[in-house]
Amino acid sequence: MFNEILGQDKAISQLKKYLAAGKIPQAMLFCGAEGAGKAKTAKNFALALNCTDAAARKTGDSCGVCQNCRSILNGVHPDYIFLDLAYQATMPFKDAEKKQHIVVDAIRIVTARSLQHAVLGRYKIIIIDKAESMQSEAANALLKFIEEPPPDMIWILVTSKKEAMLPTIKSRCQTLQFNNLPDNTVKQILGSLGFEESSAARAAAAAGGSVSRAIKAAEFFANIAGADAAKETFPYEVVSNLSRTLPDARAEASLALDILARGLHDFWSKAENDKMREDLKTRLEKISFFKRAVRRNVSPSLVLETALIETADVNEKIFKRDNV
Ligand SMILES: [Zn+2]
Repeated sequence: MFNEILGQDKAISQLKKYLAAGKIPQAMLFCGAEGAGKAKTAKNFALALNCTDAAARKTGDSCGVCQNCRSILNGVHPDYIFLDLAYQATMPFKDAEKKQHIVVDAIRIVTARSLQHAVLGRYKIIIIDKAESMQSEAANALLKFIEEPPPDMIWILVTSKKEAMLPTIKSRCQTLQFNNLPDNTVKQILGSLGFEESSAARAAAAAGGSVSRAIKAAEFFANIAGADAAKETFPYEVVSNLSRTLPDARAEASLALDILARGLHDFWSKAENDKMREDLKTRLEKISFFKRAVRRNVSPSLVLETALIETADVNEKIFKRDNV
């Protein structure tokens, strides 16, 4: 239900206004930072659109227990599709499970479905997660369907990279902007997921307002908990704890570099003279360079190891339990 989503009151109140007015934009773009709750909100909106419980509907929310709600929650409602890579992997076309972005074959299948009328619900809802991953063929195949959908059809595109989307798609959607979550809210959400308070706080502080990033951070901190930042072997120990899969390793290395940058920035703000400030500025620029390198095709472990060797004199202070 909507009240389970923290820190997005503005976006949610806008959705409730649409529900109260009975005027729902037929193509919407939910955008904002990764892990801000966009996909979760989109699912809840789908529930609210088709919930049959009068009391819940009055508050612009859903009951979670009527047949429509339960079928949507279980992913078996005939009028509801949540298209992400996991769903795409189950779709009937060649090599579906190998695709790393939303492809045109998947779009052809869901657009065909979008033309059928709702069977059980008032609305048919198709959510496309990570919509920016559609390349031009897929995006172009989608275009005319979001332009003139049947009256009971609602499209919701979800993205954390709005700038990477085709302007023609964006211009046809009603945009709903999600906030970066305050650290305290992220901490609260991690707490509700079972993380202990101190690790939730450290992870939230490193995550820049994103719950999914904070979860990764909490796991990363747990993994390097045994490594002693005062020791020369620290860089190798940290790097040996990076995930085996490249995208995860890249995210973790990037997170560790963020922690370094935050630590150096902290020293900079407390520096006693210009010389120290200049020195720290040069070091911060280097970290930015390493961050760009991690985003490109350079090995994340190589980059992180190099960075941690360069910051050997301050690693202990920065990675000390209380700081990170
Ligand atoms: Zn319901």
